[in-house]
Amino acid sequence: MSAAPLALPAANEAAFARRWAAGVRGLQRTADGRRLKVVFPGVPGGGSGPDFRDAMVDIGGDLLRGEIELHLRASGWRAHGHQRDPAYAGVVLHVVERNDGAGLSTNHESGRSIALLVLPPEPGQAPFPPPFIPPCALRTAQGLDAGPILGRLGLRRLRTKAARLRPLAERIGEGPALYAVLLEYVASPANRPAFAQLAARLPLTALIDRCGGAPDHGRVVAAELRGAAAALSLGRAGSRPMADPRRRLEAAAALLARLWPAGSAPVWPLALAAGADLLGALTVPGAGRSLAIELAANAVLPCALASAAWSEAAVEAAFASLPSPGAYGLLKPLGGWLSEGGQKPFSGAQRLQGGLLLHTEYCARGACGRCPMSE
Ligand code: SF4
Repeated sequence: MSAAPLALPAANEAAFARRWAAGVRGLQRTADGRRLKVVFPGVPGGGSGPDFRDAMVDIGGDLLRGEIELHLRASGWRAHGHQRDPAYAGVVLHVVERNDGAGLSTNHESGRSIALLVLPPEPGQAPFPPPFIPPCALRTAQGLDAGPILGRLGLRRLRTKAARLRPLAERIGEGPALYAVLLEYVASPANRPAFAQLAARLPLTALIDRCGGAPDHGRVVAAELRGAAAALSLGRAGSRPMADPRRRLEAAAALLARLWPAGSAPVWPLALAAGADLLGALTVPGAGRSLAIELAANAVLPCALASAAWSEAAVEAAFASLPSPGAYGLLKPLGGWLSEGGQKPFSGAQRLQGGLLLHTEYCARGACGRCPMSE
């Protein structure tokens, strides 16, 4: 009889985060005993703020959407001062490998009690990066062109986003759905849940009603957005100047005033009609071209596909022509392996999105030998 595999703790928080990103299956229980199901683990939060954003978890029958923070030990929350940091007020679940305290939940000084999930190390957990040269590096060195595979995976990611947005577009209409998702993605990762709440507090129809065709439309839009955002908890700690929530709010106002000018109806904007200059329409003062590309890839094109505002062919053509918004640190190892043959694997937004899917669904799950790059 062979010995059972050792349950080793994750080497560091990065490994623990990869385990979370790969998905936690089945029914779990929070430390205080409530049933928990992970609907969507979220997307990595980037440099500052909580580890994952836009996650969805079902806790005791309540569907919660927000941020996830991970630590190897539950005491990491206080050790890092998160209880005082407004950037962590939107955390809906604190995930730890070990609960080294007496508490059954995690507290924030805003008064919120955050559910705590203990995920002990799994036996035989697959490591990433793999402790060997992965098949994708060998295959690209032998001449495999990774680009078309990444492009196909990028399209799959776009379709998945569109499928998630479809119920919203059907319920509130294509214009209001686009408005909501644009507002969410104009925020820095740490503030996306708050900006999503902003869209719920000030829906597009209400904004248009309040502007009422005023000649200083742009200023009225900015004032309405600031007013609606006043009661929200927006994270500022550690934000780069470009990610400052006030700056993003001004950029959002400029963008919304351009897309829905004075006197327009709450419908799909003319400036974003199929075939229009997408990046020209989405680039506004205070937000650079990278943000315009992110908005196109994560908000406009998925929403255009979900609502049938554009034909599928028009969405695919626009996606294929979108430039890359820049490198993601998360994809650095994968980018290195896929460059073995001298290629530039993430040469456009579609391929970069494909890289994100490849990383999440295969690399981070230790699926070398079974992934589309090694088939
Ligand atoms: S899962 Fe595939 S793409 Fe990812 S490292 Fe392994 S072989 Fe490369």
